[in-house]
Amino acid sequence: MISIVIPIYNEEDNLEMLHKRLSESAPSWEDDYEIILVDDGSRDQSPNMMRKLADKDSHFRIISLSRNFGHQAAISAGIRAAIGDCVIVMDGDLQDPPEELHRFLAKWREGFDVVFAVRTKRKESFLKRTAYKVFYRILGLISDINIPLDSGDFCVMDRKVVDVLNKEMPEQSRFVRGLRAYAGFKQIGISYERQARYAGEVKYTFKKLLKLALDGIFDFSTFPLKLATYLGFLIAIPSFLLGIFFVVHRLLNFKFLGHTAEETPGLASLAVGMFFLGGVMLLIMGILGEYLGRIYYEVKKRPFYVIREDYQNNQGGK
Ligand code: UDP
Ligand code: MG
Repeated sequence: MISIVIPIYNEEDNLEMLHKRLSESAPSWEDDYEIILVDDGSRDQSPNMMRKLADKDSHFRIISLSRNFGHQAAISAGIRAAIGDCVIVMDGDLQDPPEELHRFLAKWREGFDVVFAVRTKRKESFLKRTAYKVFYRILGLISDINIPLDSGDFCVMDRKVVDVLNKEMPEQSRFVRGLRAYAGFKQIGISYERQARYAGEVKYTFKKLLKLALDGIFDFSTFPLKLATYLGFLIAIPSFLLGIFFVVHRLLNFKFLGHTAEETPGLASLAVGMFFLGGVMLLIMGILGEYLGRIYYEVKKRPFYVIREDYQNNQGGK
């Protein structure tokens, strides 16, 4: 059986089309399937509509979270609930077209454990596209694992990989595409053209997107921590040399840039140096804080999502 996990947050205008296009594509998957819609605390008509979908189509199962926990948590909840031999993750706004799924499944049946989508073209603003590009390249440079460029959450994962994610990756901060890459096994990317959102507004606010980017970097790299060492060297070595120069300048009292040491007050250089160092130290403290905060959340081990209801209409069998 195939499980399809779709996080839904205020997608009332997309649900009907989603159902239609999924049902139309279903025969091409050539297998029994379940569709798990994870309601991530929607406040529009989506919850009612999902329930109606589940009532008329027993392939649907609705997991309702107790509030909005965010996209990555919603995906994690869905993946944990899925019972299929493979799990597909896709968005609820039809940016990931259901018509493409059979290509992913074909690769999975060929023996690949993770088939992830690589976005060739994005139909988003220039600014957003550039931000994504820069982010994935920085992440690629500094992360401990090899996270494929421009790969999103849209993928098929074999049961093996899903089990690793569910049972052996208990972390609170969930950057699913990173965890998936970390899991390893046989992975392959398939390129596809990311569609424009079918209807409704983007649910990822700038704040949520920034959080996702920071999670990607801080959860999969300790490079920012090492930055302190590098910057420390970078500042300390020239400062040391400059210090020696000042002593020699004072002792020999020769003219440098037209002034002897006695004529040079040096207040400005002191002030600049102080502020510069102060800035660098605050930055490093901020980075330490970022990791400390993450450790704090991990140590508390709070559930990263809470399920309010798990609904499936089993009447008539499945
Ligand atoms: N989503 C969610 N919780 C959130 C934000 C988004 O479950 O807090 C869902 C949303 O309904 C959609 C998917 O995550 O199915 C991707 O969100 P969106 O299309 O807004 O972002 P994009 O990835 O296109 O930038
Ligand atoms: Mg979208």
